[in-house]
Amino acid sequence: MERIIVTGCLGQIGSELVTRLREEKGNDNVLATDIRRPEGHPVVENGLFETLDVLDEDRMLELATEFKADTMIHLASLLSSVAEDKPQVAWHINMTGLTNALEVARKLDLQFFTPSSIGAFGTETPKINTPQDTLQRPKTMYGITKVAGELLCDYYYSKFGVDTRGVRFPGLISYDTLPGGGTTDYAVEIYYEALKTGSYVCPIGKGTVMDMMYMPDAIDAIITLMEAPADKLVHRNAFNISAMSFDPEGIKESIQKVLPEFTMTYDVNPKLQGIADSWPDTLDCVAAKTEWAFAPKYDLDKMTEDMLEKLKIKLEVK
Ligand code: NAD
Repeated sequence: MERIIVTGCLGQIGSELVTRLREEKGNDNVLATDIRRPEGHPVVENGLFETLDVLDEDRMLELATEFKADTMIHLASLLSSVAEDKPQVAWHINMTGLTNALEVARKLDLQFFTPSSIGAFGTETPKINTPQDTLQRPKTMYGITKVAGELLCDYYYSKFGVDTRGVRFPGLISYDTLPGGGTTDYAVEIYYEALKTGSYVCPIGKGTVMDMMYMPDAIDAIITLMEAPADKLVHRNAFNISAMSFDPEGIKESIQKVLPEFTMTYDVNPKLQGIADSWPDTLDCVAAKTEWAFAPKYDLDKMTEDMLEKLKIKLEVK
């Protein structure tokens, strides 16, 4: 992983991943791309950036060839909540985008990473200690594209020898870029509201436990997996990874340890609740731990302290 092209890099993950890769690999070795080009955005201004719609395979191939990429990190996708509102568009972007990216990786012999999600499971999957290899019958379009994507990445490895790797991310929490329309977005919004107004109306019901992870651990996981020796990987794509699991009461109590006056009420959003109810409570991450030494550093309270500290600066809250 020395010359890396990243798709969908202006989103929640990409904006932080690109910054970290530029620091570690050098500015000239990371080509950031996205369908949008917002003026003044640090990812656009502080290094190599090109606009790229992942539905345009010719341009993707041209950019990766000219850049002499050896690695593709494919992040462009519609997330769970947005995908339920426009399922046909989500299928097109998530599947055609992925197929195009895998084809470019095959043609140029690139190492390849793309994330799956806890959305790749369904109501029939065991919810507690969800195994690495288990029943996957998701009921959402997002989940369907994620399972299909996991299988497609496995196929490109076994059929064409492309060095595909990936994880099933849980809900990711970060302070840099707001999440792009997923079911776990509440766990980011709650920190903003805690600082801005001191209260939060939660769209996910009490007792709804989901897996989560702080963004620095997510970025570490991508880099560690990509740099892991190939002969140690029994699985390749879709490793279960998680750092914590909690329900809305759990995150509220963690915030109250820092901001005792913080309050929360509920106004459950049926669409989000339906998706959340079909996802696991806690993932079994033993495959990731044994095959490439996955080891997250942040638990809920450590993450809360860091989030509130960083957001205070960002939001200029005293
Ligand atoms: P995001 O919604 O924040 O960002 C996605 C980016 O893709 C955006 O910048 C958008 O402009 C871009 N994009 C959309 N359509 C495009 C197109 N046609 N061509 C090029 N770019 C396009 O997403 P994210 O949270 O950064 O997620 C990245 C990946 O990680 C996705 O595959 C997502 O399913 C997966 N994931 C994310 C989470 C999470 O909590 N953020 C959890 C599990 C899995």
